Amino acid sequence: MIPERSATSPGPRSRTREQIYWRIANAPDGVTRHELADLCGISRSGVTHAVARLLADHRVIEDSGTGSGPGSGSGRPPALLRLPTRPGNLVGIDFGHQHVAVAVSDTRGRILRQRRTQHDVDHAVSRAIDVAAAMATELMGEVGASTPELTVAGIPCPINRESGAVIPPRSLTGWLDVDAVAELAARLGCPVHLANDASLGSLAELRRGAGRMHRDFVYVKISHGIGAGIVLDGKLRQGAIGIAGEIGHISVRRDGDLCRCGARGCLETVASSSALRRALASVMPPSAIETQTIGSITEPAATRVFLEAGATLGRTLCTLCDALNPAVIVLGGEVGSTVPAILQAAQQAISAHTQPATTTGVAVTTATFGQDNEVTGAIAHATILAQAAAG
Ligand SMILES: [Zn+2]
Repeated sequence: MIPERSATSPGPRSRTREQIYWRIANAPDGVTRHELADLCGISRSGVTHAVARLLADHRVIEDSGTGSGPGSGSGRPPALLRLPTRPGNLVGIDFGHQHVAVAVSDTRGRILRQRRTQHDVDHAVSRAIDVAAAMATELMGEVGASTPELTVAGIPCPINRESGAVIPPRSLTGWLDVDAVAELAARLGCPVHLANDASLGSLAELRRGAGRMHRDFVYVKISHGIGAGIVLDGKLRQGAIGIAGEIGHISVRRDGDLCRCGARGCLETVASSSALRRALASVMPPSAIETQTIGSITEPAATRVFLEAGATLGRTLCTLCDALNPAVIVLGGEVGSTVPAILQAAQQAISAHTQPATTTGVAVTTATFGQDNEVTGAIAHATILAQAAAG
């Protein structure tokens, strides 16, 4: 999914250089040499050597004296390293189950315009593609451009990491019935890449959120579905075929509700937004549920519903914590980024049920860009792909 180094980089110095380049490419606002050393776990002298080569090859540029934070050693702001700004624009799209979000950026990945609309994507994928393309065209017009250089679209389905195709899931999805890449490419007039939405959400964190401070974290998108992006040693890990992080269908209740995948008691039947709305129907009038977002519901009985679901989510995350030892768990999506009781209960469950050494090392927090994490990550991915294509 993410090209981290060129095909002609066999040696350790080249690998180090490409690792640093990837980090610079993932920092649209620039990054200092000091930050690179921390982010990559490489010595200052190693960073200096690699950056000198990247500068000589004109693959990166530096804005002298415009940074902030540590690294100058003399009180003078440190130089910020970044990609050169080429002409052109990129488009990022996030297809949720019930929304479409679109962003337009420059080739460095700085978002210039973004917009979001509610739409029943699940029941009308082709129509959702029309809506997304129209939004992208409108936003491109607003920045004075017509055709994007490249588009990345995130969808709530597992994607084969080699072929880029939607992996037939256990649950029904309209994304298997359309060639989304071809449909979007025909409408936007540019190359299009598909990616899993939770993976894109984790890229947003890697680029500008938790990944700025930590090399190991897990991003969990909790909306209509539940999925995770796993970042270890500073890299997104997708598994053998690309479905690592599909935690929504982990069984949490042996005789629980029937899940859309056909099994009973999956995590999604307890902690997804649709499961929560079904549970809230026992404690609130339907009209009150329909007219509010999940995050704006604060009735005491509803909070109990959230705490119970958060505790179940937390028990599942305990397994991830013990298996992967992340420094941070980031909760995103409609539920994860907006319901404090879910975060609170998940934190408590992790504290109570992971190994003591694991518990003291893991923090639980909400997504840096809230419900915009996925579209922000789509732009991040597009930036890397476009830069790789441009050489
Ligand atoms: Zn399931």
